[in-house]
Formats: sequence, structure tokens, C-alpha cells
Amino acid sequence: AITFLGLSKFFGQLQVLHDVSAVVPQGATVAVLGSSGSGKSTLVRCVNRLETFQGGEIIVGDVRLTPDGAVHGSRKLSDRQVATYRTDIGMVFQSFNLFQHLNVLKNLIEAPVGVLGWSKDKAIERARDLLAKVGLPDKEEAYPSRLSGGQQQRIAIARALMMEPSIMLFDEPTSALDPELTGEVLNVVKALALGGRTSLIVTHELAFARDVASHVMVLDHGRVTEFGPAAEVFGQPKSERTKRFFQSAG
Ligand code: ATP
Ligand code: MG
Repeated sequence: AITFLGLSKFFGQLQVLHDVSAVVPQGATVAVLGSSGSGKSTLVRCVNRLETFQGGEIIVGDVRLTPDGAVHGSRKLSDRQVATYRTDIGMVFQSFNLFQHLNVLKNLIEAPVGVLGWSKDKAIERARDLLAKVGLPDKEEAYPSRLSGGQQQRIAIARALMMEPSIMLFDEPTSALDPELTGEVLNVVKALALGGRTSLIVTHELAFARDVASHVMVLDHGRVTEFGPAAEVFGQPKSERTKRFFQSAG
């Protein structure tokens, strides 16, 4: 579960998140929707501590993220403990942020071996299993620059899943892709990345959101204007603005 409690975030003088509160149940798949600049990426980045914030808190399992740091019980987490906290959160960005100088297999085993101290054999075994599942079993020696955008993104998803994170964060995973490559990536997200985990998916793919989301959050200028079970939000949005947004986007 992820609980947002009155989250506020500023970039300098500009407030980009206003009192964001929402309780995301364990295992939920949340589609995070909203127009450009509404704060979607910033919100998601706060969860894995790529961004700090100035007010409120986020509770993730037994860790509380606060403006002063990440806290477990009454103890503040060290940088090293924050790194370990992050390993339980997989993140896939719009740009396929693979390590360009490492081949596919090394991209996948880097963090489990380097951060969690897995044996290389164990990491390679898991990597091969995931490469098969994302439909790229023959690409382990390839370098990212030799792969299509859709293939790179499927590798990025496999990499994010290496440590079996209990949370997955996606920030527009298909928006940099040609339309014909979008489907293969969304299929991998749906088939592999979601099941049983708590996921936040920033997406402009409304059809995909309707297909997979258990919950929907709509942000407007940094405020939550809708949050709830997908059937409710899609069926009876609270605001006229959201209604129009759903109609215009199909
Ligand atoms: P998009 O759909 O275009 O990706 P978004 O909903 O993800 O938009 P954010 O990227 O979260 O929006 O940005 C929210 C606001 O914060 C915007 O006004 C943006 O200009 C501002 N912002 C984001 N990152 C920074 C930064 N590093 N420094 C200053 N302002 C920022
Ligand atoms: Mg964004």
C-alpha cells in the first residue's frame, strides 16, 4: 500500500503538488492521468525518493517518507538504507534509461549483484528467465543502441523486475515509441509487471488505463481532482473537466 498524506511540493516558489492525499491499496494498479504539467511525474518520483518534498508524507510499507527524510520507526534511514528501500520499487521511465555501455545481460544483473549482493549465477538465471518472458531471449549480448525503442523498453521493464519489487512505477512508458511498438510494451506491462504488485502508471493511453487500472487518479495543477476505483472514476467523474477529458481522449 502507498498512502499519500497532504503532500506538498515546491520547485523554488512554484508549488507543483497541493495537499495530495490518497490511499492506494495493496495490489492496486493506479492509472495517473492529467494534462501536461499537472504534476504526475513529480508525484511518482516522490515515491522512490528521486524528489524530496516540503509538506505532508508518503507511507510505503513500514517506511515513512517525510520532508526531513525517510523514517523507519523513529530512526531516520541512512543513504544506504534508502538505496535498499529503492530496490523494492521498480521504475520505468519514458526514455529507456538503460546503461548504454553495458550489454543487456549486464544491464539486468548490475543492481542485484552490486546493490543487493546476489551471486552472479543467481542474477543471470533470473535475468534469462525475465528476458524470455519479455520475448527477447536472444538479446542478452546486445547493446541498447542496437535495439528498437520497444525492445529497449521491454528490457527496461525486465530490469525493473529483477529484484521482484513490491511496487512498480511507470512514467509514460510508451510515449516515446512509435504507435506500432506501443502495443508490445503495454502487453509486457500487463502480462508481467502488474500482477499482485502495487503499481502507479502515468499514461496517456486511456484505453490501456481502462483495461488494466483498478484505480484512477486525476491530477489538475497539482491537485487530486479524482481518485477512486476505476469503474467509479471512469463511470461518474466528479468534475465536468474530467468528463470532457475522458470524452475528448476517447
Ligand atoms: P507531462 O505530462 O508533461 O509529463 P507532468 O504532469 O508529469 O507533465 P511534472 O513533470 O510533474 O508534470 O511537472 C509539474 C510542474 O513542475 C510543471 O510546472 C513543471 O514545469 C515543474 N517542474 C518539474 N520538474 C521541475 C524541475 N526539476 N525544476 C523546476 N520545475 C519543475
Ligand atoms: Mg511527466
